[in-house]
Amino acid sequence: MQRLAAAVIWAAACGVAAELPRATVAKIDEIAVKSLAESGAPSVSIALVEGGKIAYENAYGKARLDPPVDAKAEMRYPIGSVSKQFLAGAMVLLVQDGKLSLDDTVSKYLPDLTRASEITIRQLLSHTSGYQDYYPQDYVAPFMQKPVTAESILDQWARKPLDFDPGTRWQYSNTNYVAAGRIVEKVTGGPFFAFLWRRILQPLGMTSAIDLSTQTPGPGDAAGYTRFALGPPRPATPEGKGWLYAAGELAMTAHDLALWDISLMAHKLLKPASLEAMTTPVRLRNGTVEHFDQVFIACHSDQALNLLSDPSRQETDILGAISYQANEALLHTDARLMPRRRLAWAAWNYHLPIEQYDRVTVTYNMNILQSLQAPAQFLLTLNRNADVDPAKVLGSYVYHHPVYTAAAVAAQKRRRELNGSRRTYYCGAYWSYGFHEDGVKSALASLDDFRRDQAHEQPHLQRVG
Ligand SMILES: Cc1cc2nc3c(=O)[nH]c(=O)nc-3n(C[C@H](O)[C@H](O)[C@H](O)COP(=O)(O)OP(=O)(O)OC[C@H]3O[C@@H](n4cnc5c(N)ncnc54)[C@H](O)[C@@H]3O)c2cc1C
Repeated sequence: MQRLAAAVIWAAACGVAAELPRATVAKIDEIAVKSLAESGAPSVSIALVEGGKIAYENAYGKARLDPPVDAKAEMRYPIGSVSKQFLAGAMVLLVQDGKLSLDDTVSKYLPDLTRASEITIRQLLSHTSGYQDYYPQDYVAPFMQKPVTAESILDQWARKPLDFDPGTRWQYSNTNYVAAGRIVEKVTGGPFFAFLWRRILQPLGMTSAIDLSTQTPGPGDAAGYTRFALGPPRPATPEGKGWLYAAGELAMTAHDLALWDISLMAHKLLKPASLEAMTTPVRLRNGTVEHFDQVFIACHSDQALNLLSDPSRQETDILGAISYQANEALLHTDARLMPRRRLAWAAWNYHLPIEQYDRVTVTYNMNILQSLQAPAQFLLTLNRNADVDPAKVLGSYVYHHPVYTAAAVAAQKRRRELNGSRRTYYCGAYWSYGFHEDGVKSALASLDDFRRDQAHEQPHLQRVG
C-alpha cells in the first residue's frame, strides 16, 4: 500500500493538471489508486475532459511488471473493443461522403456471405445480423495465436448458417465488425486502417494510435496482463496478427482517446445526424429495442468475474474464491497410456505416476465411455503430454477445471447470497463438483432463485404463471 501511495505522489507530480484545483486532482488520484488496488490491475492511464478540453491526464501503477516500469501518460494501451466505435465512425463518414448507406445490404459489397441480401450494414454495426461470433471467449485459444486474414475469418464464421434470422435478436459478434471492415476496404479501395488514419486519427491529432492487427507495441507502451480469479497478473497472450482486424485493433494513449470524445461532442468530423445514427438504439424487426432487466451469466466463475465492469464486494469474494486451473488434453491413439492388463481397462483410467505431477492425470477411453465401435482406441489424456507418442496425437486442447480449495467450498455455499443480488444470476458446474450434471443443476437452481425473486418483487407474475 505504501509503495502504491509513493507511486501516486510521483505520478501526480508528472500529471498534466493545468486547469483543475489541487483538491480535485487529489480526489482523482485517490480514486485511480483505489480502483487499481480493488481490481488488481497493474496500471491505469486516464485523461479527463472538462469544457471540451483535456483538463488532466495521468498514469498510475506499473505499466510493465518484470522488470518493473512505471506507467506514464504518454504510453499506449490497447483499447480492445472500444476500437469498434472507430469503425462505426468510418462508416458514417462514408455515408457523409455519399459513398454508402447504412441500409445498404451486405450483398452489395460481400455477396457471398450467408444471407447477405437480407442483412444491412446497420445490422452488422448493431450486432443484429445473426453472424456467429468468432471470439466469444475471454482468452486467446491456441488457434488464435496463429495469423489469420479477414477473409479467412469470414470463411469460417460468416459463410455458415446464421445464429438467428437477421434483425430478430441482438448478439454481440466480432464477426460483424470484420465484415464491416471489409466493406470499408471495398468502398475505399485500400486497407481499413489506412482509411482510419487518413480520415479520423491524423486529422484529430490522434497520432499515437497504432493497429495491433499488424503492428507490435514497443517497450515504451504498457504491456497487457490477465488475471485468473484472485491470482497474480500474468502476461496476456497476444492474438496472432489479423485476429483483431477491425474489431479491437487499436492501441493509443488516453490523451488521444479523449481527443476522439472531444471531436464527437464538438461535431468536428461527424455531423450531428451521423452521431445520432451511431448512438440511437436499433429496433428489431418486430419494432422492439432489446433491453435487459435481469442477467444470467453461464460461464466459469473467473470468466463471470472478468465480465463484470463493476463487481461488488460479494461478487469479487465469492466468484474470486472459486478459481480455475488449465489442464492440457491430448486426443490420441497411443494405447500405452492404458493399463497394461486389458482386463483393467475402464472408461476413466487414473495414472499414479512414480514421479509426482502437479496436477491430476487421467486417460479417458472414449470407445468405452461412448460405446464407440472403432478400429482404433480413441483416448483422451489429461496432463501427461510428454508420455504420449507424438505420431499418435490427433488433437491438442487446453481445458479449464475448477479448483476446490477450502475457500472455494465455503464460497459455493454462498450462491443464494449472490444470485439476484444485483439482478444477476450465476450458473456453472463450479457451484458443485464440476461435472456436466452440476452445470444443469446450477442452471435449475438459478432459475428457482430467479422465480422466487420475481414472486417477491412482482406477485402478479406468480398469479399469471
Ligand atoms: C476433458 C474433459 C472431460 C470431461 N469429462 C466429463 C465427464 O465424463 N462427465 C462429466 O459429467 N463431466 C465431464 N467434464 C466436465 C464437464 O465438461 C463440465 O463440467 C461442464 O462442461 C461444465 O459446464 P459449465 O457450463 O460450467 O462450463 P462450460 O461447459 O465450460 O461452459 C462455459 C461456456 O461459457 C462460454 N463463455 C466464456 N466466456 C464467455 C463470454 N465472455 N461470453 C460468452 N460466453 C462465454 C464458453 O465459451 C463456454 O461455452 C469433462 C471436462 C473436460 C474438460
